[in-house]
Parts: sequence; C-alpha cells; structure tokens
Amino acid sequence: MLKRILLGVVLLMAALAAVLAVGTWRTPSRQMAVAPAPQLEIDVQAAARRLAAAIAFRTVSSQEDPALNSAEFDKLHVYLAQQFPKVHATLKKEVVGNKALLFTWAGSDPNAKPVALMAHQDMVPIAPGTEAAWSVDPFGGVVKDGYIWGRGTLDNKSNLFAQMEAIELLIGKGYTPKQTVYLVMGDDEEVSGLRGAQPIAQLLKSRGVRLDWVLDEGLLVFDGVLSGLSKPAALIGLAEKGYGTFFLSLDTAPGHSSMPPARTAIGSMSAALARLEANQMPGAIQGVAGQMFGTLAPEMSGVNRVMLSNLWLTAPLVKSQLEKSASSNAMLRTTTALTILQAGNKDNVLPGHVDAAVNFRVLPGDTLASVEAHLREALANDAIQIKPYQGNSEPSPVSPTDSAGYRSIEQAVRQVFGDAIVAPGLMTAATDSRHFSVVTDAVYRFSPFRVKSEDLARFHGTNERLSISNYGEMIQFYRQLLSNSVQPQ
Ligand SMILES: [Zn+2]
Repeated sequence: MLKRILLGVVLLMAALAAVLAVGTWRTPSRQMAVAPAPQLEIDVQAAARRLAAAIAFRTVSSQEDPALNSAEFDKLHVYLAQQFPKVHATLKKEVVGNKALLFTWAGSDPNAKPVALMAHQDMVPIAPGTEAAWSVDPFGGVVKDGYIWGRGTLDNKSNLFAQMEAIELLIGKGYTPKQTVYLVMGDDEEVSGLRGAQPIAQLLKSRGVRLDWVLDEGLLVFDGVLSGLSKPAALIGLAEKGYGTFFLSLDTAPGHSSMPPARTAIGSMSAALARLEANQMPGAIQGVAGQMFGTLAPEMSGVNRVMLSNLWLTAPLVKSQLEKSASSNAMLRTTTALTILQAGNKDNVLPGHVDAAVNFRVLPGDTLASVEAHLREALANDAIQIKPYQGNSEPSPVSPTDSAGYRSIEQAVRQVFGDAIVAPGLMTAATDSRHFSVVTDAVYRFSPFRVKSEDLARFHGTNERLSISNYGEMIQFYRQLLSNSVQPQ
C-alpha cells in the first residue's frame, strides 16, 4: 500500500516536472532579429568633448524661481547653435515659455504622422554637503579614464546632445526624414515640466499636430541588474506611475499630560498610520509588469526561467519573492510611503493637532480616487481629515507594444546594443513625456545608457558620469532610430 502511494507521488511529481518543462521550453523568444548597425562616421572622442564642454553650463532649474540660471540656459542655446550648424540651418527653432526649445525637422511626406524625441536641458543641483565626495568638479566638464564626468552627463544632456549629433550627421549625409521630427527640450523637467514640456505639448495640440509616437528619457540598458538574466535588459517604459500625496490631520482637545485620555491625538494618528502601512494596496504580476516578465522569461536561465514561464502555477511564489525587493515591489502595486508626522512641542502638553502625509505612487489601473478610497478605509478613523496635494497626477496611459514606435525603438536597440534583450517596463519616476498624452497614444521612455547596479546611485547623485563608448552607442542609437524611418533626399 505504502509503496503504491509512493509510486503515485513520484508519478505526480514527474508529470508536474514534465508540464513545467513544456511550459518553459514552449515559450519562445520574442527578440527581433536584426543586422548590427554600421559604424559611426564621426569622431566619438570629439563628440565627447562637445558634450563635456556643455556640462559647464549650470542649467539647474528651480520650482520657485523660473528665472534662476537664465543666463546659463542662454549660453547652452548659443553653444548648441555653434556646435550643430546644420541642425540650426535645417530645423525650425522656437523658444517656448522661458527657455524650453522646440525644433521642427520638416518631413518629406506631409501625410506621414510626425514623431517627437525629447530630452531636457535642466538638471538637479549638487546636494549640499556632498560636493567634497565628487572625484571631479561636477561642472568642470572633465573627460578622463574613458568617461565624461559631471552633473547632466546621465540626466540628461547626453540624450540631448546625442540627438543633436545624430541629426547633424544625418543632415550631413543628405538625409531628410519622411515624417516630420520634433525635438522637445524642456527647461524644467526636474521641477514638473509645467513651464517647458507641457506648454510645448499644448502648442502642438493647438496646431492640430497628432504624433505617431514620442520617445523621452526613461528606463535603461540594465546589465547584471535582473536576476536570472545573463544578458543586459533594455527596458522600454510603456507607462509611468501616478503621484498621489495626501495630507492628514487630526484635531482633538489639547490637555495636560498629567491626566491624559485613554487615546491621545498622537496615539490615534499613529494607530491609523500603522493600519495603513499594514494594509498595502493589492499587487500582482499583471499589466506592464506581466508584459515585462513574459518577454524576459524565455531569455532567462535555470529556476528563474521555469518559475516565470509557469506563472499559472508559480505566481504566488514569484510574487512574494518580488515583493521582498523594494524596486520590484514598486512594479507590482501602488506603493504607500509615510513621509511626514508632526505633533507636539512641549513634553508635558498633549497636542490638540497632528499632521501627517502619505505619498502613493499610483500603478496604471489604479486612480487617485481609488487610492483615496483605500486610504480612508485603511485609516479607519473618520476624525482624520484628508486633503489631496494640488500637484497630484494620475498614472499615465499604457502605450502599446504593437506600434510603429515601439518596433522602431526595439529595432534600433537591437541594432546598437546587440547583446541586449528588449522588453517593456514601467517607470516609477516621472518624466516630461507625461504631458504628451494629449497629442499621442504612444509614449515611450528609454535612455540608451548601459548601467550596472552600482551606477544607479549616480543619477541625481555623486560622480555622475557616462563612458565615451556608451556615448558613441547613444549617438548610433538615435541615428538608427531616425534613419530606419528617414529616406535619402
Ligand atoms: Zn531626467
């Protein structure tokens, strides 16, 4: 009898293993087969020096003072005109708002739907107290050890200059695009985009422009960042999360601490916040995260591949693994972050007022309204007042992968980053491109940077740098992206 049960268990295990194996090996690769891009026809070292010289312009933007560093933006504009004469002779240039730039490269076919490339001119400041941690002057425009160093080399002057280099090169070769190409260069991306990218999107809309697709900064070519994947992953952002801050306040009668009530204002608010943190919004491997893992699974090895290829069975296990890391958890759900808690100013007085704030990053599929409803329910205290922040924004729409834009970007990535696996991804940070959903259904977020885990802290951080060889790939990427769809004159 025991023998028979054992045999049954073994047979069941074997059947399960067979089903998992079939599920794993029957999931084919979705990677596009392309020939490698031709070599760049320009001197990449010289291009690197052109970019490095622009790092000296301190185009740091400010929320409060729109005029901050105006002269630096002017210097950048003059420099661009000097370094890229063909771009400036061929494209129409408009200054929008304060210092935002809109270039128009007129296409040969008026019926072809135009496209837009985006990159922002502004940068974040050097965090006070971290200046000494830099190994070079962050605004020195230093080129050494094979890298271009300084604030803006990653975020985002390299994208802006690589686009300029690619177009200067293509014009020099006598190319003209079939479809009109817009270049959108905001001057306040780091502080909202409301003075730069948004007015440009509205301007295009007012002119009746409808864009086939838009490419802005975004996800990267991640090398050794995703477990189970030996090749780099080039993730193209299909969407970005929304931003939802809610300010909470609780009023009770103030009192003397010698005769406290059973529940104080601080105790009530704290208990409500603890309930909120314990009640996370639901997460799942679906939507953009589902698309991403579905595309990456066939490229993985070992147990990761088996697990991700058989999500019908393994989803709960995979999900609990992903939830353990803050970065992958953020792809699965609307996240909840308690960010402010303020009450009391004297040790023997019970405060009559408590303030708190909670910041949600809203997953596409959720809305600010559904998040607020969850918040109310989880706090479970009607005495707490809830006020949404004025600057909240809904998650972006999810762009399609079966579009000309996605295919063009995927093709250019595969041509230039031959070893990279291309997959859709979700941006957890905001970009200027979110303002463009008024003029297109297809917004993609991708920056052609090769990064390892240790490089991620360089964004907005210390010792920001870009390798010269990667900069060459960036120029090649934009050249391919444009030349795949342009025609010789
Ligand atoms: Zn940026």
